[in-house]
Order: sequence, then structure tokens, then C-alpha cells
Amino acid sequence: MIKTLDIEKLKASVADEIDARRRQLSELSLKIHSSPELGFQEVKAAAWLAQYLEESGFFVERGICELSTAFRGSYGEGKPAIAILAEYDALPHLGHACGHNLIAASAVGAAVASKLAINQFGGSILVVGTPAEELYGGKAIMADRKAFDNLDMAMLVHPGVRDTATTRALACQALEVEFFGKAAHAAASPEGGINALEAMLNSFAAINSLRQHIKDKARIHGIITDGGEAANVVPAHSAGTFLVRAEDDTYLAELKGRVINCFIGAATASGARLEYRWGSICYAPLRNNLTLARLFRQNMQFLGRKVKLFEPGQAFGSTDMGNVSQLVPSIHPRVAIAPEDVLIHSPQFAEAAASEAGIKGLLDAAKALAMTVVDLVANPEITIKVKEEFVQNK
Ligand SMILES: [Zn+2]
Ligand SMILES: [Zn+2]
Repeated sequence: MIKTLDIEKLKASVADEIDARRRQLSELSLKIHSSPELGFQEVKAAAWLAQYLEESGFFVERGICELSTAFRGSYGEGKPAIAILAEYDALPHLGHACGHNLIAASAVGAAVASKLAINQFGGSILVVGTPAEELYGGKAIMADRKAFDNLDMAMLVHPGVRDTATTRALACQALEVEFFGKAAHAAASPEGGINALEAMLNSFAAINSLRQHIKDKARIHGIITDGGEAANVVPAHSAGTFLVRAEDDTYLAELKGRVINCFIGAATASGARLEYRWGSICYAPLRNNLTLARLFRQNMQFLGRKVKLFEPGQAFGSTDMGNVSQLVPSIHPRVAIAPEDVLIHSPQFAEAAASEAGIKGLLDAAKALAMTVVDLVANPEITIKVKEEFVQNK
């Protein structure tokens, strides 16, 4: 019989272990922050993280899933197999304006401290290094290549402006559209031309009309990437990129059909030929495992943070963690590192990701993750509950 007191002691020890590594972890985080690398080019970050794990006694496999900057570090054997996921890609022009340097350092910190719990109770702790969250949905590719198949749970703490135990994220798919018309002198012989730009503009008008009649949380937005060459030439070609998002896969599929109808209508009206391609990556909606989220929240609150289980006004985008959460019971909590008026993906958030508050967020996230690992390995009945919830809500 494991006494509550022993569990509390072990939680204090894993937290102490993270405090003892404060300097190493903040240096690792700042090093990644000051050498921002875009998706699938995170050579330095992946190498530093893998090395840190190896030096801390983890077995590390580099370049897993045929992705050179993906890796897996593991310690211990058997069940439960608990994974902490690391992101480490930056944004074009903005550097670490999503704070992924903090995700990476908190993941390795938490995993290394979790060794104490694994040594005492068994099971295994893994760090899965998942590249290219921002641009290419690295986890979706890794999910297809079976990177998450043998895991019992997956956790990732993302920096933000509020402390919340859950995240809302929509299903999302990208769409590339092109119209092919016919060039002609725009003043001398407009009747001979077919205007590909007008086809694109009419598509936007149709989508704007459609938007009035779609479900509340669905989103359709896009940009024009080619709108013609010169004002005196009828545009023979236009191109655009769009994103379609919905709360669930079923509605996303329905919405995709209605969006394509907008383009078909515009093609018919203008006489331009339509070509379109759906992006190969489809982001799945995020399924929050509430049993895990409540455990994490309790541990975060023990560290002195006020954590909401849900954030009613929370902004939502899409994340490739959604794809992981469809396969494995998962959480994607947020830790506040900046005031509420700071926007993620802004220069101010990039600054926060290298600030004292950022490091505090990193350490608290690492501690709460490791303490949650203690809960999971010490109480097999909680692991069963996590899995039951996952199966029931499928
Ligand atoms: Zn981001
Ligand atoms: Zn992010």
C-alpha cells in the first residue's frame, strides 16, 4: 500500500530536481530562443535536446519517422508509457514568438526529473521530439508513421497568457486554389479575355455569404497569392491559399464541400477553369483528457498558480497535438508567461519567451508535468480511469 505521504515526498523530490537543474534548463531554453530554426530545419535544437537527454541517462533515437529533426528519448521499460512532447520550431521573421523553446526545455526537464518516479514504481518516461508544429504539422506526419502507437498518455505544456488545463483547437485543412483564364488587352479587347482575378474575387464574395450560415466556431479564411501581372492585361491566372476549420471532422468534411461550391460557382460565372488541391495534412480537433487535465491542474495549483480547467473566452486555432490526442489520451495545458493583452505570434510574446516570467513558466510546467507522472505511476487506478475516459469519449 503506497501512502499518500510517500507520494507527496516523491513529488517534492521531482520538483527539487527541476530546481537543481534551473540553470541548465534556462540556458537550454535561451540557446534555442537565440538560434531560431524553422520547421524541419531545427537541427541545433534537436541535437541539444537529444544530447541533454542522453547525458541524463536516456536512450535516444535520432531522426525517427524519417524526419531528421524528430527524436525519441526513453527511460525505463514497460507500462505505463508516458510521453512528454517537445516542440522547438520557430516562426518566419518572428523567431520564438510561440515560445516553443520553453516547451522543449520543460519537456526534457520534466522527463529527467520523472526518472525518480520511474525508478520507484516502474513504467517508462519518453520525450518525443516533434518538429515543424507551425508550418507543416509534424505530429500529423509522425502520427501516420506510428510514432505514438505504443504510448499510454501524451502531455505537452504550451506557453500562453493564461493558466489553463485544457486547450480548444479546431480541425483544419489547407486549400490551394487556382483559376486559369485568358489574357487580353483590358481596354482594347476586354471581350476577348477571361478574367481569372474576378473568379477569385467572386469566390471570396461567395465565401463571405456562406460564412453567415455556418456553425459558430467554424472558420474560413484565405489570401490571394497571385492576382495578375499588369492593370492593362486581363488576368489569365489567379491563385489563393485558404484554411477551413471546424469543431469536428464531420462538420469539416461538410464545410469543405460547401467551400468548393463557392469556387465552382465563380468558375462557372467567369468561364475560368478551376483547379484546387487540399493540403496533405489535416489537423484533427484536440481531445482533452479531463482526468489527466484535472491531475495536472491540481499539481500546478500546488505550485501556486490559479489554473482554470476551461477558459470560456479562450481563443482557438489548430494544432497538430490534435492528431496525437485522437490516438492517445492527451493534454495540452497552457502556462502563462505574459500579461493577457500580449498576443501569441507577436514580437512581445517572443520577448516573453526569453524573460524571467518565461523561465518561471518553464520550471512550473516541468514540475507539474513530473508531479503528474508521479501520480500516474504511483496510482495504476488513475491510469485506468484516463483510458476509460478516452474510450468512452471516442
Ligand atoms: Zn504558434
Ligand atoms: Zn505553438
